[in-house]
Amino acid sequence: MRRSRIITILTLILICVHILHVPFLPIKLDFNPHHSSNFNQVTSKTLQNPLEFNGTRAYTYLEDQCAFGPRPPGSSNLTACGDYIITTLENQGWTTQTQTWEYQSTSLRNIIAGSSPTPLYVLLAHYDTRPIADYDPDPVNRTRPILGANDGASGVAALLELAAVLPEESKNFVTLLFVDAEDSGNYNGWEWIVGSTYYVNSLSSIQKANIRSAVLLDMMGDADLQLKREQSSTPALVDVIWTIAADLGYDEFFQDVGGFALIDDHHPFLSAGIPAIDIIDFDYLYWHTQADTPDKCSPDSLEVVGRVVEDFIQKQLIQPTNFKPNGLTEVWLIFAIAGFMVAVGLLVLIIYRRINQRKGE
Ligand SMILES: [Zn+2]
Repeated sequence: MRRSRIITILTLILICVHILHVPFLPIKLDFNPHHSSNFNQVTSKTLQNPLEFNGTRAYTYLEDQCAFGPRPPGSSNLTACGDYIITTLENQGWTTQTQTWEYQSTSLRNIIAGSSPTPLYVLLAHYDTRPIADYDPDPVNRTRPILGANDGASGVAALLELAAVLPEESKNFVTLLFVDAEDSGNYNGWEWIVGSTYYVNSLSSIQKANIRSAVLLDMMGDADLQLKREQSSTPALVDVIWTIAADLGYDEFFQDVGGFALIDDHHPFLSAGIPAIDIIDFDYLYWHTQADTPDKCSPDSLEVVGRVVEDFIQKQLIQPTNFKPNGLTEVWLIFAIAGFMVAVGLLVLIIYRRINQRKGE
């Protein structure tokens, strides 16, 4: 074979590898889960289970986390809390793995639960707490770390209770993600949403294409629960979640009004083209203060949000919604990639022939 032909073939292989991240994919190529046998098992179960999310039990998960004290990134309190999250998940039959890396000379850790490397749904919360109480009314308190009962522990508590009550099949389709270092932005040169950004950057193109939606739970445990439609979330996903809440009689808490647009852990997902929602009550008087303590939170609030998410996952496993903004499904994405590869291949061949023709002239 001539050298130029070998170069052409190598170029084509490189393009394929680059696009599909082939070496980094320890997976079955489950591009359209609707057609996979596993998914049919789920869809064949047409009856929805009764909702079992228990707010009182979730509240104990919130208290357990706060018992470790403030949990800023890199602290021994956060390590202990992370170990507690892992133990709780494994006791509920979930397989877990961790991502660890260094950021600003600090060791960070994300916790990932679920058995599929290509999940369809990601439910996430940050488990770190802010290193400073910079919004505390008392200046003396502003350099102290917060306890983060609502801002940190509430979302994690809801995920741990969901881990117990979601249908068994969820373990194959849902990833529960506990991210580190969400809440240290503008402190000592740190950015916000470090852990979620790291997680999304670690996903391959195929994994990103497979995720149908990401649901972020943040500050949703406060006793005076008023959730508004977060403005940067994917509108179609917000509509589905808000409709579920209304059907469950929770429209008093899931208010049909626009809220803030927030920098939060759903952003890396949105940037990667993954539909995402931030379920957050940002009208919280004790935000980033020393008063963000368990007594400001309630089992009822955890249960309201937890049951909405439980219902959402149950419904999606039976009848999925396509939230991808431009209607791009996984199958079409594969066609698009294949078409692109063929086009590049043809282009390379044409250029190669032209060069050969010129040499012959
Ligand atoms: Zn915060």
